[in-house]
Amino acid sequence: MTTSKQYDIAVIGLGAMGAMAAWRAATRGASVIGIEQYGLAHDRGSSHGGSRIFRETLFEGADYIPMVRRARALWHDLEAASATTLLHRSGGLCVGPREGGLIVDALRCAELAGIEHHLLEPDELAARYPQHASIDADVAVYEPGAGVLDPEGSITAALRLAGAAGARLRFDTRVTAVHHDDRGVRIDTADESVRARRAIVATGAWFTDLVPEIALPLRVQRSLLSWFTGPDRDAYRPDRFPVFVRESGPVDGWGIPDVDGRGVKMGAGPAAIKPWLEHPRDNDYPVDERDLGPVEDFCRAAFPHLSPKAVSARPCMNSKTPDGDFVIGIPAAAPTLVLAGGFSGHGFKHAAGVGDITVDLALDGATDTPLDRFSPDRFPRTKG
Ligand SMILES: Cc1cc2nc3c(=O)[nH]c(=O)nc-3n(C[C@H](O)[C@H](O)[C@H](O)COP(=O)(O)OP(=O)(O)OC[C@H]3O[C@@H](n4cnc5c(N)ncnc54)[C@H](O)[C@@H]3O)c2cc1C
Repeated sequence: MTTSKQYDIAVIGLGAMGAMAAWRAATRGASVIGIEQYGLAHDRGSSHGGSRIFRETLFEGADYIPMVRRARALWHDLEAASATTLLHRSGGLCVGPREGGLIVDALRCAELAGIEHHLLEPDELAARYPQHASIDADVAVYEPGAGVLDPEGSITAALRLAGAAGARLRFDTRVTAVHHDDRGVRIDTADESVRARRAIVATGAWFTDLVPEIALPLRVQRSLLSWFTGPDRDAYRPDRFPVFVRESGPVDGWGIPDVDGRGVKMGAGPAAIKPWLEHPRDNDYPVDERDLGPVEDFCRAAFPHLSPKAVSARPCMNSKTPDGDFVIGIPAAAPTLVLAGGFSGHGFKHAAGVGDITVDLALDGATDTPLDRFSPDRFPRTKG
């Protein structure tokens, strides 16, 4: 086994967050190594399937606004630097009862943050977007600036740019151990030990494998990507059909227009029962009725003109925190590690911002973007 030179930053995991961190670190002049257990933009983690919702009406809370603003600017930088379109504007809808949590929280966020939005009354919603079922007196918050991100395209673009800026990127290489003390980190793979001043740990659903001593209460949940079609396919293209989240009592789900000819991509919302996994390796089994039932029920209730049988489906998974908020920061117990995990099913839109923030933390130990809500130290300690 060889020990190579010391890098400024080692990025472990080159999925959404790690790819963006590697790009930002290399572009900002740091010496970087990035290590990924699988291939470039692979389909075995949380960042595959051709599309992700981007929106700023963050019903998750206004604490996320600085991060998503930083992300939006950087998505545009990434598009410009790679000469690719990664964020397709489609507009976005939050649909539900006027007094329901989704609409109240989306409006609160949009007003607080000054995001352009329009409240669509039931008749306007039905007239503009007849694709959606009218349920009771549901209203919608429409955000013209929302759209669809290309996850595989974004990861590929970021890593190409990182490589071009001098980052050393290793694929099909699993990190087997991370040793850290106040002076730095040593990262072991099967054939090499690598030293760095700090490591950014961005290992998604595998998060607790490598740093068990930090004892984060993360759990892995299987989640489905599924596609639906109907006779009028043009009605579901991005210029006529915005990304959406719907919470109408039991009719609870999200969806993305047909950006690639595969159909409308949909998923059941958080209320649906989804299997918890002991480990990400347990996600390696074919899609079954337990996966499809909730999303097909959602499609049947929410889209009268689509066939409620999925035309295709793929498993995915999420690393979830107990409170649904991200984990971003330097833990008190490990000052040379920067953690970026627990994205709980809503992280992709923030990835470019998260990558840049983790590089601030790795280089300077601090960042201007407020992170209190995302502290790795906010959970009661369960070990040690
Ligand atoms: C079905 C579904 C739909 C979603 N829709 C949206 C959406 O519309 N909008 C949105 O904003 N978010 C969405 N999300 C959430 C978003 O996709 C995730 O939050 C985000 O992709 C997580 O990125 P990550 O970098 O943490 O994980 P990943 O992209 O999985 O990256 C982790 C990487 O670490 C690597 N790794 C792990 N262990 C090791 C090791 N020991 N050595 C080397 N490499 C290692 C893995 O192979 C992997 O490549 C969705 C998620 C799912 C599952």
